[in-house]
Amino acid sequence: MSVAAANIVSPVALAAIPLRDVLPWVIFAGLLCLLGVYFVGAEEGATSIIRGMYVHEFVHDSRHLLGFPCH
Ligand SMILES: [Zn+2]
Repeated sequence: MSVAAANIVSPVALAAIPLRDVLPWVIFAGLLCLLGVYFVGAEEGATSIIRGMYVHEFVHDSRHLLGFPCH
């Protein structure tokens, strides 16, 4: 086999993923991200939906890492 023959790449048919099939998962992932941002950034005080400081303390280091105001 020559070097030129070894470099020939056979064409591969890439399957296109229709946007309509992906869009619900993109929306779902976006909502999960927004939920994560809420729990890290706003789950305390007046905007808290879970009583106590458990969630706040659980995500406290992430909160400081991302620069959300805390204390
Ligand atoms: Zn803090």
